[in-house]
Amino acid sequence: MSAMAMETIVSLCKRRGFIFQSSEIYGGTGSCWDYGPLGVELKNNIKRVWWRDFVQQRDDMVGLDASILMHAMVWKASGHVDHFTDPMVDCRECKHRFRADQIDEKDWTHYCPATKGNKFTIKAGEPCKHCGARRTLCPDCGRGELTVPRHFNLMFKTFMGPVEEDAAVTYLRPETAQGIFVNFDNVLQATRRKLPFGIAQIGKAFRNEITPGNFIFRSREFEQMEIEFFVNPHEHLDGRPADEAWHDRWIADCQAWFVRYGLSAASIKLHEHGHDELAHYSKRTVDLLYKFPMGWSELMGIANRTDFDLKQHSKFSGKSLTYFDEERKEHLVPFVIEPSAGVDRALLAFLLDAYREEEVRGEKRVVLRFHPELAPIKIAVLPLLKKRSEIVSTCHDLRRRLSRRWLTLYDDTAAIGRLYRRQDEVGTPYCVTVDVKTVGDAEKGETGDGKVTIRERDTMQQIRVPLADLETIFGHLLDAGTPWTEIATAYPRAEG
Ligand code: ATP
Repeated sequence: MSAMAMETIVSLCKRRGFIFQSSEIYGGTGSCWDYGPLGVELKNNIKRVWWRDFVQQRDDMVGLDASILMHAMVWKASGHVDHFTDPMVDCRECKHRFRADQIDEKDWTHYCPATKGNKFTIKAGEPCKHCGARRTLCPDCGRGELTVPRHFNLMFKTFMGPVEEDAAVTYLRPETAQGIFVNFDNVLQATRRKLPFGIAQIGKAFRNEITPGNFIFRSREFEQMEIEFFVNPHEHLDGRPADEAWHDRWIADCQAWFVRYGLSAASIKLHEHGHDELAHYSKRTVDLLYKFPMGWSELMGIANRTDFDLKQHSKFSGKSLTYFDEERKEHLVPFVIEPSAGVDRALLAFLLDAYREEEVRGEKRVVLRFHPELAPIKIAVLPLLKKRSEIVSTCHDLRRRLSRRWLTLYDDTAAIGRLYRRQDEVGTPYCVTVDVKTVGDAEKGETGDGKVTIRERDTMQQIRVPLADLETIFGHLLDAGTPWTEIATAYPRAEG
């Protein structure tokens, strides 16, 4: 996947209404994004299947939706006020700001003394091939000295209430996790859970990133899907301390989840954090990296946060945040395994992995091969002739019928070949076409056969099915996960 692939996806997203730049009519922000009509469906589908698979279908998980604004002490206790910083350097000339640890990953501008000061753009990390110099100045303007690195806190500060004074300062949450930790005892008391159990949350998080970029990969407002899985550290599982065994289980489950919904296994790899990389609270952290167009980058992280957060909140709030172990007759502070995924990064990976350009009968076909559960539109109902009122009214009836269970769209704004291509390009798995044979011709005294054509996106195969069978067929295909081949062999093929 090249940088080209990212540009292609960005342009498809805008053209077809998946993602727009925030405040575009004012020149855009570049660090925040708006999800359009198809984007919001795709995003909701990702969150829905994640919630269903990891919360509703497991008997050791419950959900939570905590507020974004929290007590300022939360962020002192969690360490975010003191530690949630990135080293940053500024150019003294153009005033651009960079993350000190990422500056060598940028292409750089160079005025080469060996070629009478000609200006070159040199690849990241490489020296100038004329004079051999390496970058020391600002990579953007090529002239300014850089300041020494300074620590910059990534939290967005705001004020609670009408007075802008120090006592009213609070922050937009930079992660959803802390909302779970501060509610640990509430959930425990309300649900009477036994360890191990987890609390999940999906919601917005905000970070004042120094260098947002790569489309929705790194933005200042994004969404997270997080789980805090509480484990008894005195127990053993698979012959190992329970927290370590559960950590490995969650790594495997998360990886399998992304593959199940469409990412190719070869595009995901694990990255074990070295000691110098580990966050202050972590005993071990493993990232799932995805092969994004800009290189292998973090899709999600799975950390063993130990008992750090609960102990910190207990210390700062003065409230006991423990669990009573009936067997050992003692109060203990659970260890926590935290699978933390970004919704936007997941969406970007699913988009990139689904994107294909194919040649069909000498023409280019763009198709998003989304998993049917993720596809924004499940069924498109299309008229073969929009001038025939019986065809159009049958289409509208059908759309109404099918949309009770699946997102179904009607489109008559082009000829059928073009309508199919448009649906391919947004990943709609099935098109249903109503034609003259379906409705017959009253003037000629011909009755219709009451059958329609279903076309499948990936194989482009078409079958002829009775109108009355549609709910059953789509129930199999879209809800039960029955493969297309099984349905297709039960009905006659229609002409392509
Ligand atoms: P990075 O090093 O890439 O900035 P991180 O290690 O700081 O990420 P975590 O704090 O582990 O990220 O957050 C968990 C997940 O939240 C990340 O794996 C990612 O999917 C998502 N995420 C974090 N920061 C951003 C951001 N600025 N934009 C979009 N998603 C983000």
